[in-house]
Amino acid sequence: MLALRKLAPEAGLALCDVPEPGAPPPGEVIVKVGMAGICGTDLHVADWTAGYAAMTEVMPVTLGHEFMGTVTQLGEGVSTIRTGDRVVIRPSVVCGRCERCRNGRAEDCVTRRGIGIMRDGGFAALAVVPAENCVPVPDALADGLAALTEPMTVSAEAVDTAGVNPGDTVLIIGPGTIGQGAALFAEAAGAARVVIAGRDDAARLTTLRAMGFADVVDTGGGSLREGLVRAGLPLSYDAIIEAAGVPTLVGEALDLLALRGVLTICGIHPKPATVDLTALVRRHQQIRGSYRAPLATWPRVLAYLADNSERVSKMVTEEVPLTEALDAFARAKSRSASKIMLRP
Ligand SMILES: [Zn+2]
Ligand SMILES: [Zn+2]
Repeated sequence: MLALRKLAPEAGLALCDVPEPGAPPPGEVIVKVGMAGICGTDLHVADWTAGYAAMTEVMPVTLGHEFMGTVTQLGEGVSTIRTGDRVVIRPSVVCGRCERCRNGRAEDCVTRRGIGIMRDGGFAALAVVPAENCVPVPDALADGLAALTEPMTVSAEAVDTAGVNPGDTVLIIGPGTIGQGAALFAEAAGAARVVIAGRDDAARLTTLRAMGFADVVDTGGGSLREGLVRAGLPLSYDAIIEAAGVPTLVGEALDLLALRGVLTICGIHPKPATVDLTALVRRHQQIRGSYRAPLATWPRVLAYLADNSERVSKMVTEEVPLTEALDAFARAKSRSASKIMLRP
């Protein structure tokens, strides 16, 4: 079967012909992949930017951690799912033995290994995954939308971490999939106004307008504040969610955060940010980090996707066959598309 793989610790990916997996090990299942999304992490791994050196020991490895499919074969002892079930895959494989796993905090497992990062993932026709990582997909939810679940759980977790309250004015920085999802969940949490800012990011801001968000601004050519002033948008926010991974925006965001406001960071930053802590103290502000969501978030996000299919379908700009993966990666990198789904 065809698989999109990382072969060596250097820039580049390869479409390879690999053997189909044999019978799954105990507790695991084989999933026939329906759809798998390309994410910013995949682009970093493809370009071999810093932070992924741990992958070297598992290469060659098949990428793809945002995927769904149909269960085709069960390993010994699997009783929670059946063949024919449509499932979405939680990429975090946990040990089940460490102190955090034993205390109900498996999402914080100390030895977690990501599917599609540290073991073979979903950019292939078949994937072998632990049964406990499979979450059932509602019948009504299309393949391409179900494959949005993983990034949407990250968005939901960011909004939960931010503690968005009804009536809040919320700013989302970064118009990619995580930012798009955060805008939706902030609105669902009752935010009175949701503003989304991007920088030289026309295609993804257009996606947000198609999703029904009117307060969308491109701050290219100036500061965040200047962009908001130009667009006649608020200059004070109860909650700000940063999903851009640009360190200089942290200080800019704090300057726009209300007294007692919360800045939630979920971007991956290439270097440290500089923050005026005295201003933060005097304004009683908080900075919080947010990453992956607990298991309980997954069914909630799947239900949201099923109930809002028409709207979230705007987030998927392309569904292309796996054979065209390398071209699709180039388009994803140029930000000329929002979410691109690969169909093995
Ligand atoms: Zn991802
Ligand atoms: Zn553990």
